[in-house]
Amino acid sequence: MSLKSRSAVVTGSTSGIGLAIARALAKDGANVMLNGFGEAAAIETERAGIEREFGVQALYSPADMSKPVEIAGMIAGAGKAFGAVDILVNNAGIQYVSPIEDFPVEKWDQIIAINLSSAFHGMRAAVPGMKKRGWGRIISTASAHSLVASPFKSAYVSAKHAIAGLTKTIALETATFGITVNCISPGYVWTPLVEKQIPDTMKARGLTKDQVINDVLLAAQPTKQFVSVDEVAGIAVFLCSDGAKNITGANISVDGGWTAA
Ligand code: NAD
Repeated sequence: MSLKSRSAVVTGSTSGIGLAIARALAKDGANVMLNGFGEAAAIETERAGIEREFGVQALYSPADMSKPVEIAGMIAGAGKAFGAVDILVNNAGIQYVSPIEDFPVEKWDQIIAINLSSAFHGMRAAVPGMKKRGWGRIISTASAHSLVASPFKSAYVSAKHAIAGLTKTIALETATFGITVNCISPGYVWTPLVEKQIPDTMKARGLTKDQVINDVLLAAQPTKQFVSVDEVAGIAVFLCSDGAKNITGANISVDGGWTAA
């Protein structure tokens, strides 16, 4: 329970990696603010379940990560409710796949806003309190696409590369204040999002489920295994520990060897 008395905001935590990170931080004793879209009843069940299971305070913010004013409001609200925002996890993200000549301009703007600018706005709002208290942990869920590119993902790859640069910059700005700023770069993670793509890909490419998994999704991943959400969450918890106080400005790959190739 090393995070007892700490409080965290995890963006995009109604599903997938963000939910696993929020649950892992709560398991380690932190109060958590959930955020993201979804069905109200399901989100409430998850929120109440975290409080019951881990004995922490869990709140939910519906803030839209494409809206700077809502992001600042979420951080201020968490600070008021918990007394502090000690941990900020910038995790909300979306994807869109298209050749650049057909890439919708509004999709580019949306991905840059949600996958990149939201982290800027969140950090901008959370850093002053962390500096004042002399302790903070900022983690962004980047991607293997912060290090290498794939075709047809211009906005996503641009946003994720930029997150790695933003991470390094804010790490340098906050290094003497007891704050660390890092990103985690997963390869393919088994989330509902990835799972839901399989039937459509089977149909579109005329492949079996195994072929989609092995020849399409895992083609880039030398281990030929999906990363699990819990593996990503475990790294986030470690980065929040005192043992990780000298890890800052890092981009930690969890990609089954993808970016070693
Ligand atoms: P997911 O779709 O399961 O979760 C995305 C979360 O973001 C959801 O809670 C969703 O409601 C929220 N969200 C989306 N738009 C939002 C908005 N405008 N405002 C607030 N919340 C919003 O996806 P995931 O796979 O868990 O992805 C989480 C992060 O991990 C993303 O940044 C993604 O790029 C990154 N990532 C995922 C993988 C993977 O293979 N799944 C790999 C590398 C990186």
